[in-house]
Amino acid sequence: SVHNSCPMPWFGMDIGGTLVKLVYFEPHNPSPSNNFSQVQTLEEIEFFLKNNETCRKGGGGKDTHLKIKNIYIHGNLGTLHFFHFPTSEMDMFLQSAKSKGMSLLPCTACATGGGAYKFESAFKKEVNMDIHKFDEMDSLLRGIHYIDANYQEECYYFENPVDDKFCEKKVFDFSSPYPYLVVNIGSGVSILSVYAPDCYKRVTGSSLGGGTFLGLCSLLTGCETFEQAIALAEKGESTKVDKLVKDIYGGDYPRFNLQGDTVASSFGNMTCQERRSLVSREDLARATLVTITNNIGSIARMCAVNEGMEHVVFVGNFLRVNPISMKLLAYAMDFWSNGTLKALFLEHEGYFGAVGCVVQLLE
Ligand code: ADP
Repeated sequence: SVHNSCPMPWFGMDIGGTLVKLVYFEPHNPSPSNNFSQVQTLEEIEFFLKNNETCRKGGGGKDTHLKIKNIYIHGNLGTLHFFHFPTSEMDMFLQSAKSKGMSLLPCTACATGGGAYKFESAFKKEVNMDIHKFDEMDSLLRGIHYIDANYQEECYYFENPVDDKFCEKKVFDFSSPYPYLVVNIGSGVSILSVYAPDCYKRVTGSSLGGGTFLGLCSLLTGCETFEQAIALAEKGESTKVDKLVKDIYGGDYPRFNLQGDTVASSFGNMTCQERRSLVSREDLARATLVTITNNIGSIARMCAVNEGMEHVVFVGNFLRVNPISMKLLAYAMDFWSNGTLKALFLEHEGYFGAVGCVVQLLE
């Protein structure tokens, strides 16, 4: 049976370019024999996150608000737990697992993302673990479909996204989504066309993604974490940095329906010394966020039009604690398509790869 070939606890890891996403299935009725090891494993992960320097500074933690209670995985009722930490701490994580005697525990570890390959031999050497590897795109879609089928209110959209007063987050019924476009914004960006549960293709990608935002923002503002970068952006104004249509025309450019407030040139005002002296770190952070987000939005929109898709699902950890980008994407999709495209978001934004590899193993 599944039990015998894949002893609990079950882990899924998505070891990406920036973050390790780790999900952990805690069964409600563990068999008495491995009851102890399951509790211990959970505690060990939490111990690592609490005591690791980088994780404590905001680079990692348990996403308690995302926990899913009463979910079935292959006939077992339990709770899914969600953790993340920086990929740069992967060696420390393995050392910590080793020192806690993790290699003695029976468990099943599945992994996806580039790190599944990069760290495969380290898992074997440090904790004597054979990890089950899965392709990251397969896992991503498995995870999306699994969570959506098993958790209500996963999918949502924004009504009146740029109107602070009237903006509303609303649940979207994702029970018959096909065909749809997935835009996964991690360190870089991948765009997939999904036609059916098992039928998809990778349309394109972009190297201008979440890593670009954080890299440029660190250079321009000296911020040290993603959370700091977002906090700065929340207080800044991108219009001081960008050159707008009205900066060039003195107003709108009505012939082609371009409003004065449309960005004509991202960072275009920064070619001028006088303008540079007028912008703050906050403005620069905001402009970087808006530039990267709008570029992704514009690529996504062209893909959706090419592929004949109406629904565009945005996922990936770039959207973590980042309502500015979500609302901007929601607005841009709607505005530049004259209302024909809809931007959708998922609550477990960065965790689908990690969930999907566990689900795949047990199928
Ligand atoms: P990857 O699989 O490439 O690591 P993710 O989906 O995990 O991709 O997204 C990584 C991106 O998420 C980063 O480039 C950054 O923009 C954003 N991000 C969100 N939270 C953090 C964090 N705590 N540390 C670093 N980057 C973060």
